Amino acid sequence: MIELAVTCTACGAGAVHEVGAVLLDHDALEGADDAEAWTRAVYVAMSLTCPSCGAVDQHRVVPESGRALEVDGQIVREGCAALSDGTVIHTPTEGITLLEARASAAPNDPLGWRALGNFAMRAGQSERALAAWRRGAELDGELECALAIAVDAVARSSEHAADLVARAAERLVFAAPQRRPLQSAHVAELVRKLGAPLVLVLDGTRVDPTGVRDWSGFGERLATAREIQATRP
Ligand SMILES: [Zn+2]
Repeated sequence: MIELAVTCTACGAGAVHEVGAVLLDHDALEGADDAEAWTRAVYVAMSLTCPSCGAVDQHRVVPESGRALEVDGQIVREGCAALSDGTVIHTPTEGITLLEARASAAPNDPLGWRALGNFAMRAGQSERALAAWRRGAELDGELECALAIAVDAVARSSEHAADLVARAAERLVFAAPQRRPLQSAHVAELVRKLGAPLVLVLDGTRVDPTGVRDWSGFGERLATAREIQATRP
């Protein structure tokens, strides 16, 4: 862990955040050594929340703290942060805002909601991630978002968990072939953890999960079934 000292631009309070990973872009300093330059140069993958006022990703890096970052290749890496298309970003919130705009501009494309959800979750903004995955999961046949929502629901023991796991299970038939074994194993694990009764019909054969002993074998069956129906008994 590294400590990064920042000043909140919303309330002016100082704070020291423990950060797990930092990208340091020496080029962005442009020869300057002030707070503005260090704020441009330092990217933290997790959103930083001001402990005084709650503002998210609104801070300037304290120059001494920036200077103290050493490029060690493990925790601090040299480089600038960018979205997958190369758009440079300076805070996770900036990335989320861009991805939100793109997803909203093409709301029927699940890729936009997936990208937004995955990015927001990595930034520690789980509510925004879940909101994005929920939008994506509403689209017919979208497995990845549905699976992400189901994982969260099972982890929180949500009353909707069984329905969400059932939806993800039924959508396994739409998985990309190379991803399906892993996604099937995830669904099998969710069914195991669920505790609530769920009945699966795999290619016409009824499987009662309460009778399953071999969960990896169950995952393999999910990975090869051509038709999957999942219902509450
Ligand atoms: Zn603040």
